[in-house]
This record gives sequence, structure tokens and C-alpha cells, in this order.
Amino acid sequence: MSRAPSLFVSHGSPMFALEPGLLGPNLAQVGAAMPQLHAIVVVSPHWQTRGVRITGAAMLETIHDFGGFPAPLYALQYPAQGAPELASETLGLLRRAGFDASIDPARGLDHGAWVPLRYLKPHADVPVLQVSLPHGIDAAGALRLGQTLAPLRERGVLVVGSGSLTHNLFEFRQHIADPEYAQAFADWVADAMQRRDVEALVDYRRRAPFASRAHPTEEHYLPLLVALGASAVDDSTRKIAGGMTYGVLSMDSFGFGLPPALALEEAA
Ligand code: ZN
Repeated sequence: MSRAPSLFVSHGSPMFALEPGLLGPNLAQVGAAMPQLHAIVVVSPHWQTRGVRITGAAMLETIHDFGGFPAPLYALQYPAQGAPELASETLGLLRRAGFDASIDPARGLDHGAWVPLRYLKPHADVPVLQVSLPHGIDAAGALRLGQTLAPLRERGVLVVGSGSLTHNLFEFRQHIADPEYAQAFADWVADAMQRRDVEALVDYRRRAPFASRAHPTEEHYLPLLVALGASAVDDSTRKIAGGMTYGVLSMDSFGFGLPPALALEEAA
């Protein structure tokens, strides 16, 4: 099986499930162009645990882990199969790398996982494994988590870090639209990604403009480092345009090792 890509996907607000915008169709293109996948491994900030947890269930429940959104959002399902064998293998990889890892036999997929997967693989026909983000992990740790998952790609496992390129929820809830600072941060990341400047991306809080405003807390940025960690130096890097939603949430996403002929819509 050929090497599967590694992706960072912005999921923004849960409303992304009902409002595809620019990113939804682009993710659909990305998903359709992928080589045959053995499975998908997703890391999302909405499952934070002590140590690293791995879903081990054979069928994964769709978790609606958000409040106060329109009713249709709660009716959405993503009936993905789990991948128990791959869970055991992933457990071994993580433990050998020194992570305190364990299997969670009951947990399903949170919205950080299933919302983008509904665009990427709308038929839910690829088994999925979710890997938690351990409490207290820092940027270097998130990169190492991705590096630890990297060997799975060689066996056709797509690695997805799901977060949000900018994620100031206070400004989102207060309807503060200030796309200029959010775009400046997003542009800095895009430039560093194209140059594969791993050191700068890990040290983003000191080096990127408006880093602490774009990410008052780090958990929606860290999945980008998981995806980067899972990438290889010989992977192409591709920005997947997602545009700016709600005036402050950049939905831009990135793919490593995507098929070069992929036609994607660019931001206006
Ligand atoms: Zn989120």
C-alpha cells in the first residue's frame, strides 16, 4: 500500500458541519483524490486525557460534544467503524516512544474528528481511530506524537490533526470581526509550512505575529504539529484554502504528500 497523506484540518466552529464554506468542498476534493486508505487516525483537541488514549471500539459513536447550536447539528451522524487491530499496533508504537498510552474500549468520535471526516470521507467507509491529546502536552510533545504516528502512513493510514488555524473563541462569541490579525497569523504559518520550518512552527508563540491572540490556549494549534510531525521531508506541502469565517476563525488547512494534480479552490 502506498504512503497515505498527513493532514492538518481546521474545524473552526461546530457550525462548519452545516456551513461547508470554502473548506468543505476542498476537503471533499482531497478525500476523493486520496489513494486507497487502510484507515484514518485522528487527533482532536476535544479529547484531552491523562496520558494518550486510543479508541478501541469496533463501531464509533458520534459524540455531539457542544451546546447551544441549532438542532440539525445534533441529528448528524458519522457511523464509522473503528480499527481495533490498528489500535493495538498504535498502542505499541506510542509505548515504545515513551508515551503513557492505553486503549479506551467505549469512546467514540468527537466533533473535531467527525465534522471534517464527513467532508473527507462522506460515506464513512474507512475505519477510524481517534488518538487523544494528553493534558499538558506542549508544542514539542505534539510534534513528537505526530512523529510517533508517522510509520502508520506507510501502510496507507491517513493521519489527521484536527484543530483550527486561529481559534479565539471569546472573539467568535462576541462577534468581534478582526480578520487582519487572524490573517497575519495564518499567513505566517502558511509561509513557515511551505519552508518546512519545523523549529519556527514549534516556537510559534514567540515568533508568530499575534500568536497568543490567535490561540489564547494552545490546544487547537497543537494538532498542526501532530500533522507536521507525521510528515516526511520528501512530502510535498499543500495549503488547502478554507478562508476566514466569522471574521476571526481561519479555516486554512494543510496537506502533506497529497496527489499533485489535485484541483482546489483558492480564497477569493
Ligand atoms: Zn474545536
